[in-house]
Amino acid sequence: MRPTRLQPLFSDIADLKGIGPRLKTLLTKLLDRPGEIKDARKIDLLWHFPSGIIDRSNRPKIKDLRPGELATFDAKVVSLKGPPARGKTRFSKAPTRAKLEDSTGVIDLIFFRSDPKYLQQQLPIGELRYIAGRPEQYGDHLQIPHPDHILTKAEFENFPTLEPVYPLTQGLTSKTLQKAMSQLIPAIPQLEEWQDPAWLKKQNWPDFQTALTSLHRPQIIEDIAADSPHRQRLAYDELLAKQLSLALVRQQLRMKKGRSIKGNGQIRDKILKALPFELTGAQARALDEIYQDLGSENRMLRLLQGDVGSGKTVIALLTAAAAIEAGFQTALMAPTEVLARQHIETLAPLCEQAGIRLGLLTGREKGRARKQLLLALKEGLIDCLVGTHALFQADVEFKNLGFAIIDEQHRFGVEQRLALQAKAGPDGAELLVMTATPIPRTLLMTNYGDMDVSKLDEKPPGRKPVTSRVIPIDRLEDVIQGLKRAIQEGAQAYWVCPLVESSEKIELAAAQERCAHLKQLFGDRIGLVHGQMKGPEKDEVMARFISGELPVLVATTVIEVGVNVPNASIMIIEHAERFGLSQLHQLRGRVGRGERQSSCLFLYTPPLGVTAKKRLETMRATEDGFLIAEEDLKLRGGGEMLGRRQSGERDFRVANVPNLSELILAANDDVKLIMHQDPKLKSERGKALRTLIYLFECDEAIKLFSAG
Ligand code: ADP
Ligand code: MG
Repeated sequence: MRPTRLQPLFSDIADLKGIGPRLKTLLTKLLDRPGEIKDARKIDLLWHFPSGIIDRSNRPKIKDLRPGELATFDAKVVSLKGPPARGKTRFSKAPTRAKLEDSTGVIDLIFFRSDPKYLQQQLPIGELRYIAGRPEQYGDHLQIPHPDHILTKAEFENFPTLEPVYPLTQGLTSKTLQKAMSQLIPAIPQLEEWQDPAWLKKQNWPDFQTALTSLHRPQIIEDIAADSPHRQRLAYDELLAKQLSLALVRQQLRMKKGRSIKGNGQIRDKILKALPFELTGAQARALDEIYQDLGSENRMLRLLQGDVGSGKTVIALLTAAAAIEAGFQTALMAPTEVLARQHIETLAPLCEQAGIRLGLLTGREKGRARKQLLLALKEGLIDCLVGTHALFQADVEFKNLGFAIIDEQHRFGVEQRLALQAKAGPDGAELLVMTATPIPRTLLMTNYGDMDVSKLDEKPPGRKPVTSRVIPIDRLEDVIQGLKRAIQEGAQAYWVCPLVESSEKIELAAAQERCAHLKQLFGDRIGLVHGQMKGPEKDEVMARFISGELPVLVATTVIEVGVNVPNASIMIIEHAERFGLSQLHQLRGRVGRGERQSSCLFLYTPPLGVTAKKRLETMRATEDGFLIAEEDLKLRGGGEMLGRRQSGERDFRVANVPNLSELILAANDDVKLIMHQDPKLKSERGKALRTLIYLFECDEAIKLFSAG
């Protein structure tokens, strides 16, 4: 159960005065993170930090008001005159004029096209009001058009001198947000300290309540900066919560014994014989490490990191072979349908020679075929089941699942990882996670905890480097001419179309348009794949591209992960400035797999922002996935990127700070110490740390708490 002190923070945002259903919807939209929040809660609003401040400390009398100078003053409402009523329309072009006075003078407030009823409520004649706004010279006197704030005395007392400016969404005003915040801020609780006092002192960080309050009620502009002690403390809180909860989950998994899976090598040897190549040194090392894990009594939880094209699939097969030799079933899970099918295609011939019975289960297997498959699976007639999320469905039962391989892990959460393991019954399954996104060591800690890692840091022989170029979109014509020549020489190309935030429809339209355009130029042999296409349709287009029939494949990002067409040697990415570094890296990894010299063109639409520019510069400069990942991490503090939502990557709530790596490393040491001294979180600090975990909603650890 969530600690009672936190409960109010997690209550409905609509409990706040002034927030009705319409505003709640807007706020939910503003505060939402991918798929996480259905109804905005108060805590979500508190994690919404200001991006700037307005200084309202200038408090003159009316006679001292200066044109252009922001001022806040109090005065009595003398009169309020609307425009002459004209027919039925309540609004008219002539302004409404309010006259206010204090002991030193009078001033007019001017409102264009405002609702007179609303103004009457705001400015009742004879009452005192606090006005914040910018006076303007009008003829020989000053007036204030549309003041920023009109406040009662009580409201003014709650109003900050340094007014924070929050990022907004259309339809939401700063006033609304201020009002909601001023109700929330006093409710920020004082919580038992979960940080080590010596560490706090060394860093000169405030307590939680002070930190969060100061971010919303800054005293100086530096208070809201990403490197302010307030922000740093909260960033560290979040990192500690995440890393600690991963460590707790890991501890739990470790306590359960794994099984020792030792194959006799028969199937493996058949596969090795059938392979048209020798394993690279890195592959051989990784394979050894995985066999060791499988053979030991400890539960295996290993991450296989290898850049696109480094040869992870064959590792998956060879490790599955060991499990199958030992009499266990294996599940191989892919993030997309296209990829699952491609796995089946590459694996099928090898499996046939080695005597492995393969099965395929995606959302598309239905009806009788699906029933038969599930029956075969349950009876143990399938050795290796390849599939997508469909593997999680409740009626998918294995006879004896012993080993689960998850490909391209960054698309799956910890939850799903655990769900797959649960299919293996009380004994759980040994788990191998494969990712083509090289992850910096520091981020590994927040996303995976202390998982064991094998690295494929050596590419199969014969790979040629990809030539990368960054080109503004107004040179499209040249690009198309170049493409034409290459196609005449037998090359194939991917053409990736813009990724548009939260609008699959627009994304699709852009891809369709480009496809039609290219058809005009090159004739009908242009394929199009996109996310809204039905499976069989998509497969058909992919198959025609793979067979070489289609020289160009226009695609939205469905080709991002894993697709392998060695003859494709050109990658053209439109609006490259909108993609994140890891996506660009993934996309480029689709080419450079065959005989031809490959190239990747990053087309961008100027002007480029600073971060986008750095990203493209990085892409041009290096192909080293690990370097790119490090750079990605550095650039994160420098602004959100569009692609993130769709790539399903989870961001931090608070910890998007420039010195992220440093904080992660510190938190990692902290977690080690905590797990050593108080692994059950029973001490005073331990209890406070539980609260921290609830505060940041680290669900996987919370589940452990409730399980006792
Ligand atoms: P990843 O999944 O890591 O992106 P794949 O497993 O799809 O990479 O491998 C890419 C290509 O490299 C495949 O065509 C595969 O057959 C080939 N390959 C894998 N290992 C080797 C090797 N040791 N030598 C030569 N080619 C290899
Ligand atoms: Mg792969």
